[in-house]
This record gives sequence, C-alpha cells and structure tokens, in this order.
Amino acid sequence: KAWLPIMYGCNNFCSYCIVPYVRGRERSRMPEDIIKEAKELISQGAKDITLLGQNVNSYGKYPDCGMNFAQLLRKINALEGDFIIRFMTSHPKDCTYELLDAMAECEKVAKHLHLPFQSGSNRVLDAMNRRYTREKYLELLEYAYSVMPDLSVTTDVIVGFPGETYDEFLETVSLVKKAKFTSMYTFIFSSREGTKASKMPDPISREEKGKWFKELLDTQEKIAAVRTSSMVGKTYRVLCESVSKGGLIEGRTGGNIIIEFPADESVIGTFRDVKVTESLTWILRGEIQ
Ligand code: SF4
Repeated sequence: KAWLPIMYGCNNFCSYCIVPYVRGRERSRMPEDIIKEAKELISQGAKDITLLGQNVNSYGKYPDCGMNFAQLLRKINALEGDFIIRFMTSHPKDCTYELLDAMAECEKVAKHLHLPFQSGSNRVLDAMNRRYTREKYLELLEYAYSVMPDLSVTTDVIVGFPGETYDEFLETVSLVKKAKFTSMYTFIFSSREGTKASKMPDPISREEKGKWFKELLDTQEKIAAVRTSSMVGKTYRVLCESVSKGGLIEGRTGGNIIIEFPADESVIGTFRDVKVTESLTWILRGEIQ
C-alpha cells in the first residue's frame, strides 16, 4: 500500500478546523511529478495507491496545473500495472459529476468515496462554513449511486457543533438514513483554539451530546448491517493485506470493507476473488474462489 500526496494545505477555513492555519494555503503538485512518483510506486510493487490531500477535489487550481482532479485520476488510471487507486479527502463543495463519471469509468479506481458531510442541517453547515447544503450533498450521492450502483460511501460527522439543537441533530440522523453509508467516522464536537467555532456559544452539555452520538451510531449500525448482509453470496476482488488476530487472511474490498478468509500467507500482496459467506455488521467473512 502506498500514499501519494498530490496537494498540501487548504483554503476552506471550515469554522471548526485548524488545518488552514497550521498547514497554510492550498498548493497542488505538478501532474508530471505525481505521475512519475506513481510509476515508481507501481514498479516497486504498490498495489493500492491512495492519492492524498486535504481537499483532493480542488486539485490543480493553485497553482494552475492545467489539469483537474478528474483528469489526473484518468491519467493515473492509464498507467500500466495491476493496482487500485484510492483518494482522500473529498469535499462536497468541489465534488463534481465529472469526477464521479471518471471514478465510474476508470477500472482501477476503487468504487469508494469518502465524502464528509459533517451535518444534515443547512443552518449548522452554514455556521461550519462548509458551503454546500444537505440537498446538494444528497444530489451528489444520488448521481454517484446512479453511475456506480456498487459504490461504497463513507463519511465524517460532527455531533454537537456549538449552537446545534436536537432538531438540527435529527436532520443529521435523517440524512444518514437516506445516504446509506458503509461506515461513518463520528466525532463529538471538540473545540480547537484559534478557530471561529471555539468562540461560538455552546450551551449543550457533553453528556447530552453523548446521548445524541449514541443515537446516531445506533442508526448507522442498522444501516451498515443491512448493507453488508446484502453482500453475502457476491464475489469481490480483494487485496490480501495481512494476517488477522484470529489467524485468517485480512483484505479489503474496493469499497474499503474488511474481509477475512482462510488462506495461506503467500497470498498477501496479491488480488484474489473472494466470495462473501457471512457479514458481521462492519466486516465480512468469505472464501477464496
Ligand atoms: Fe480544509 Fe478539511 Fe479543515 Fe475544512 S475540514 S478547513 S476542508 S482541512
């Protein structure tokens, strides 16, 4: 597995985030340097390459690289070799249909989109300075699922942003029910000194936020269980990565779901077709075909 930075910094200034202050403004690397490095990684045996940046969807703007992120994905997809391409993190405001089409059409690009939505309330999104609405987010997902029916979407959510009400939190719950995420990284709001959000009134207690957090996790757990159980009986191409604690081989589907199966350690580092035989909410069990 390899990680390939394509850009540094961030221009977005989400009101809760310190990154733009500590890492500076957005700077993209030139496409020729990225492609050269990708070729080197492939020749060294990398099978799973993750393109990294705080907001990879806005790749190529600063400085003008003559290429946007969708075009860069197509270039890397065209490189010779047996490997898969992943990327993170995406920002809904810069995620385009052009990018989703490129994902759908590039056979080496994993059908996994990590697209943080943070809140399902438009008022909270505005206070977070996220610059998209829940409607725009759901529209993007609808298009993404229409061009990639097997797409696995993961996300980040903040519970208890300063000033968030329970009714606004319920809008987050309703978005989660609609979006059918594979998994979520859920955080209770944690103040970062120097950010705008750290100065906002925050009347809801930590204990109350903890209850909301649990409600959201319970909701997502049911959705994840339905999702993974729908995979039973299907076969996926899996990169075999390591030996699990239980002595099984552990790999990941293109959708980034962990699957365990019995096999010899010699399969590690290779792609295998694995049929899912059992789902355990967050992970799968299977057998090599
Ligand atoms: Fe940038 Fe992400 Fe931080 Fe927003 S949350 S400011 S997009 S790094």
